[in-house]
Amino acid sequence: MLRLPQLIKNSLRSRFRVSDTFPVSLVICLIGFLAHFSFIFLFDYWGVPSLSYFNVFSSLLWAWAIAEILRGYTYRSVYLGTIEILLHAVFAMSILGQDSGFDLYLWPLAAWLAYNPNINHKFALVAGSASIILWVFGRVYWSHVEDVPVSVETLAMMLRVNAVIAGIAFIFGIVSARILVERHSKQLTELARRDELTGLYNRHYLTEYISRHEQQDQPNRRAYALIMTDVDHFKAINDQYGHEIGDIVLQAFALHLQKSVRKEDLVCRWGGEEFIIILPKCSLEEATSKAESIRREIADKSTVDGRVQPIYITASFGVTLNATGEYFSDLISRADKLLYQAKESGRNRVIAK
Ligand code: GH3
Ligand code: MG
Ligand code: MG
Repeated sequence: MLRLPQLIKNSLRSRFRVSDTFPVSLVICLIGFLAHFSFIFLFDYWGVPSLSYFNVFSSLLWAWAIAEILRGYTYRSVYLGTIEILLHAVFAMSILGQDSGFDLYLWPLAAWLAYNPNINHKFALVAGSASIILWVFGRVYWSHVEDVPVSVETLAMMLRVNAVIAGIAFIFGIVSARILVERHSKQLTELARRDELTGLYNRHYLTEYISRHEQQDQPNRRAYALIMTDVDHFKAINDQYGHEIGDIVLQAFALHLQKSVRKEDLVCRWGGEEFIIILPKCSLEEATSKAESIRREIADKSTVDGRVQPIYITASFGVTLNATGEYFSDLISRADKLLYQAKESGRNRVIAK
């Protein structure tokens, strides 16, 4: 009996996940929380109580942002983080001047906003630009602040600490954007290659795979066997049990094919209830006996639970070998004829040539 949960799991595995950006924002917010929490004590130590209190407020905002992510509202965490970084930069610059380096956070903020898929483009553009403009504004108006409450040495220390944290956040933002883009593009490529119902490779991918194969130099062309198979009287399954059960039967059949072949073999849904298996470095005899064992298992015991009773199916097979230099289209039409012969001579059989 072929199990359905496994089929669903297989086909879900290749799905595009929208929540992929979740860990990036979570890590940023965790860094934000920890940094500001430490600043509460650092500013107390440096003798600037107003900033120590401000960091209590900041830590609470970051904790709120983390809570929003955990509740599934990642975009809210971006807004909260933006507000915190902007307010903090302005407040710290107005007290300590720009030599403290609190303006440096405006650059990673701009990067985080620019790449973040959880907020819309317009907000990213406006808020990201505003962040940079605020940095320029700070350069003009806060470069010389009177009565800075800490020593020059402490300011220099703050600048170094802020430069390290802001710099790491900046690089982190860019690298995570790159990882996301690469991961999504890989997932999309994989999705485009797969048949939605069965999770097998689709016809598009098989033709691409074969054309790559055909472009190789003649001497390097590896021989491969091709099995074409088609479920017998499948229309009757649909008619008797309904299209939905028909789909489940196809999924089970596909899973059975996939499980029966070697790692290097390629199983593809050619269309409807027709499938093709490419077996590299395989003789006609080996491919025929593989097809025969698949056929026997399907006919003997591979049934699917059809809600009320098990469903028994059979399938017919055409097996052939590519002669050197032969085009795929020729191979397909030969396999098609063999499959037709198998159908004509009573179905549930393998014909090889
Ligand atoms: P034969 O033994 O000659 O192959 O008979 P058959 O009934 O299997 O072949 P036929 O080509 O007459 O019918 C194929 C049926 O497969 C018709 C079509 O509705 C059904 N089919 C094709 N794709 C799907 C699918 O994705 N899901 C379901 N449930 N049915 C499908
Ligand atoms: Mg059929
Ligand atoms: Mg058919």
